[in-house]
Amino acid sequence: MAEKIIGIDLGTTNSEVAVVENGRATVIDITPGCPILPSFVGLADDGSILVGEPAKNQYVLYPERTIKSIKRQMGSADRVEMGDATYAPQEVSAIILRRLKVIAETHLGQPVNKAVITVPAYFSDAQRQATREAGEIAGLEVMRILNEPTAAALSYEANHQDHKKVLVYDLGGGTFDVSVVGIEENVVEVLASHGNNHLGGDDFDAKIVAHLVEHLKTQGVDPTGSRRAMARINRAAEIAKIALSNQPYVRIEEEYLLEKAGAPVNLSLELARQDYEEMIVGYIDETLEAVHIALKGANLTVSDIDEVLLVGGATRTPIITERLEEDLSLTVRAEVNPDLCVATGAAIQAGMLAGEEVTAVLVDITPYTFGTSVFGELNGVPYPFKYAPMIHKNTPIPVTKSEVFYTMHDNQTTVKVNVYQGEDPDALNNIPLDEFMVENLSKVPANNPIILQFALDLNGIMQVSAREKKTGLEKSIQINNALTRFQEGALETARSRINALFAHGETLEGQAIGTGSGATEHQLTAQARALVEKAQRLLDRAVENDREEMINLIEAVNDALINDDFTALAGPMAELSDILFYLES
Ligand code: AMP
Repeated sequence: MAEKIIGIDLGTTNSEVAVVENGRATVIDITPGCPILPSFVGLADDGSILVGEPAKNQYVLYPERTIKSIKRQMGSADRVEMGDATYAPQEVSAIILRRLKVIAETHLGQPVNKAVITVPAYFSDAQRQATREAGEIAGLEVMRILNEPTAAALSYEANHQDHKKVLVYDLGGGTFDVSVVGIEENVVEVLASHGNNHLGGDDFDAKIVAHLVEHLKTQGVDPTGSRRAMARINRAAEIAKIALSNQPYVRIEEEYLLEKAGAPVNLSLELARQDYEEMIVGYIDETLEAVHIALKGANLTVSDIDEVLLVGGATRTPIITERLEEDLSLTVRAEVNPDLCVATGAAIQAGMLAGEEVTAVLVDITPYTFGTSVFGELNGVPYPFKYAPMIHKNTPIPVTKSEVFYTMHDNQTTVKVNVYQGEDPDALNNIPLDEFMVENLSKVPANNPIILQFALDLNGIMQVSAREKKTGLEKSIQINNALTRFQEGALETARSRINALFAHGETLEGQAIGTGSGATEHQLTAQARALVEKAQRLLDRAVENDREEMINLIEAVNDALINDDFTALAGPMAELSDILFYLES
């Protein structure tokens, strides 16, 4: 059996181990379904050693015999206490590495003696040497100490054929780094790096914790004296934070958190993503400033950068991608799981050292963006079909995203939800997939929140639902082949065009869109409405004769729609699209 070299991401909060199998890097499960080992070491009641989740679980209760974040002390002469003894940081890291080695051996069914271990780009020689020693104590020959951003870049560019400059934006639980990485044939190197060793997702949690503590204080209880209550609040805050990455609101509920005058105190509070984002905006600003400092260090500007790769669990916070795209106009990539891409890259490097053929990481992503349309602004003017993307292309699937939208008018009892596939800021230039109405909404003033949710699975089945927040009233639809729809839609359109030409062979010379026997009635209706809406928008551009003609055709399309007469749609749609074609070109 050929010797295997494993790749290890030895992180401050979490660690992972990966290996190349059948040409692809695979992150190995620590427990079934979970490839993440918390970087905690502890001693149990009976003196036995605990690594990972069990050690993390006892941290709050027994901090004196549990060690966390040992990575922060690597390379120093400090010794850390655990129970009655003290340990060098290398020894504690070695305990974590040993566990990862055994997990890899069990998975592979063969001994493992060699590893590639990653470290932050800013690690000094002493810190790198300490990491090497930790590997040796654990019985691993450290074949290479690899920079984390290099590993991340390798996970995206296993074969690194391209010449590129990328930014690796790494926001983990407790640390933030941004690195400029140059990718050339056979060389992937860090050109500059900058960051903050004490900034990460844990700080985001702390903001929510402070908010919850304040809320409890207004109820006359102060939880800060109770370790147990604070541990529960901390955990609830992290869960809420993670939920807010995918939904606009979260309800935080902790029953019987404390007692007040002998009666139980429950925590129950709703947090909106918008309010949470305001809490963390200072941190996000700081990371963007670090981007500029790193670029300066590499003597580059934002325009020299081809793309940003996201690393670290906290980069799933949507405002991070939004700000990188909007403030810096950068293309953001997050297809490789941000928790696992450093380990994946370490395994790719390990596989190369072992002489294995390594191909790119396989990820299931959506190749298309899906969204809805809202009343908003397009090119500085109010516009009723502004595209509001819900699931962006290249997002790993399965994925569920929800966002909040608001009614426009007082006593508005219905809303229409349009579903599109595409990227154009004008929703009408995207492919309409479906539409539905939500009726019987409460008669309340405008700005009634409606939560829209898109859930896309691996088979391309997309569930779209809209829910009135106030009452829970919900309407949903299922789109069965969202991932193939683009191609199919194009085919459908072509087929319909041809059908329409035949149906009106003598009178038509130009194009028609979206009619004929091939398209479903849903698609036809959506296409016809889109065409009418577009025609109305372009009316001003037409000369008077055309305008009159367009108005007649719009009426004809609307009549056919009202009467559900799909065969009568073909002619006017074809003529209308003809006029629009000339108006636009
Ligand atoms: P890492 O050190 O890379 O494992 O990142 C851990 C940090 O990412 C922790 O603060 C987690 O709470 C945070 N995190 C994990 N998943 C998400 C998510 N979906 N949204 C926001 N933060 C997350």
